[in-house]
Amino acid sequence: MNYDIIIIGAGPGGIFAAYELMCQKPRLKVAVFEAGHTLENRRCPIDGDKIKTCIGCKSCSIMSGFGGAGAFSDGKYNITNDFGGTLYEYVGKKTALELMHYVDQINMRFGGEGCKLYTTAGTRFKTLCIQNDLHLLDASVRHLGTDINYVVLENLYARLKDQVDFFFDTPVETVKIVAGGYAVKCKTGTYSCEKCIVSVGRSGSKWMEEVCRDLNIPTRSNRVDIGVRVELPAEVFAHLTDELYESKIVYRTEKYGDMVRTFCMNPKGAVVNENTNGIITVNGHSYEDPAKQTENTNFALLVAKHFSEPFKDSNGYGESIAKLSNMLGGGVIVQRFGDLIRGRRSTPGRIQDSFITPTLNATPGDLSLVLPKRILDGIIEMIYALDKVAPGTANDDTLLYGVEVKFYNMEVQVNEKLETCYPGLYIIGDGSGITHSLSHASASGVHVARDIEKQEGR
Ligand SMILES: Cc1cc2nc3c(=O)[nH]c(=O)nc-3n(C[C@H](O)[C@H](O)[C@H](O)COP(=O)(O)OP(=O)(O)OC[C@H]3O[C@@H](n4cnc5c(N)ncnc54)[C@H](O)[C@@H]3O)c2cc1C
Repeated sequence: MNYDIIIIGAGPGGIFAAYELMCQKPRLKVAVFEAGHTLENRRCPIDGDKIKTCIGCKSCSIMSGFGGAGAFSDGKYNITNDFGGTLYEYVGKKTALELMHYVDQINMRFGGEGCKLYTTAGTRFKTLCIQNDLHLLDASVRHLGTDINYVVLENLYARLKDQVDFFFDTPVETVKIVAGGYAVKCKTGTYSCEKCIVSVGRSGSKWMEEVCRDLNIPTRSNRVDIGVRVELPAEVFAHLTDELYESKIVYRTEKYGDMVRTFCMNPKGAVVNENTNGIITVNGHSYEDPAKQTENTNFALLVAKHFSEPFKDSNGYGESIAKLSNMLGGGVIVQRFGDLIRGRRSTPGRIQDSFITPTLNATPGDLSLVLPKRILDGIIEMIYALDKVAPGTANDDTLLYGVEVKFYNMEVQVNEKLETCYPGLYIIGDGSGITHSLSHASASGVHVARDIEKQEGR
């Protein structure tokens, strides 16, 4: 065998698996294969000015490379079982939280010290929300911010690189079962290992499907979340964000009984483009450094769409809607809330005259031509509901960027060790469909490393 363990993917799941193995079992030979670039070589050419749309880089620097999809994220590590994944269903609620706290400690040790840990415990907003038919989910959130998140990743890599073999710009093509382990094939050759940890995240979802098909590993999928990113003056949500930083608020619509929720809140942040398989969607982030902060807060409003048989391609559905916005707007569309409810498109003039300065250079347009009525109705209902706890949310000038899509990977069948039906073949992180967040994905990496440590200790 070339290696004891091969890890596929250097996102949070892969990094934390490698880190834990390196610390606890330094004699193990570990390699990490990553489709994307090293951290310092990751750069998205879209600047919203000269290059506005995706030019289809061979490796997307937003989604791939050391740090994975989370490298340029807002670095919000939510320590909770209420959202961010269903890791607790596999490892138990107590263990899941313990793993997330452990990840948090490592982040603190590698540069995150001093970043605030916000919590919903004992907050008066819970009552305020319930009184207005809104539900605030429980969580503690460590906000590293895009800048500190990057520093933590730099430090982790510096610590790992001498003990772990990293292969960057090396997408794995196949994983095959061989006597005593696994053979991992890439362009440069085939490498064997006793155990293989697959952590390919959202960008590796299609590849993951192929691997599961080839190896007959059962999977299931039926969900996609679709919505918009809301941007408004930071003062509107300041009472919530100052205390909680991120508030995950859920609302059940009166009209259809659909669940709408706030997602990825970025106080004083910026709205950004996101590229998923060449389709431009919207996202947001914020910086810990006050010099880089803006006057606006942004967050997503997402409607969860679950499909039932015979339809299986929930991600395809989300992609089609996102493609429609790209077709009309050449990328992301922005619309004032006032224009949306008056049934008219936003124009450059109307955006210019508005009291909010957009942080993303998007195309003024009409989101009602893109989003299905049911989804749009849900978003409008939620905006009016939020206006009761954060007056000003339903202001005419509130900006809505679309579309934001949260794709879910198909869920791979694994046991409580996150091991497939093949001993020593683990599937973790967002690529497993079990996690959807930095802390859950990282925790899943530690969990698997600990299982391997236990076996090695025997
Ligand atoms: C813009 C943005 C902002 C976000 N903000 C937050 C946030 O604030 N808080 C939060 O909790 N979550 C956030 N997320 C989600 C979070 O980044 C993911 O949940 C997390 O990164 C998942 O970790 P992972 O290791 O499972 O996968 P990923 O981070 O996706 O890493 C997987 C890695 O595997 C590599 N890979 C894929 N296929 C192959 C292959 N065949 N061979 C080799 N390598 C391969 C990819 O290149 C990638 O680097 C954000 C995501 C984005 C895109």
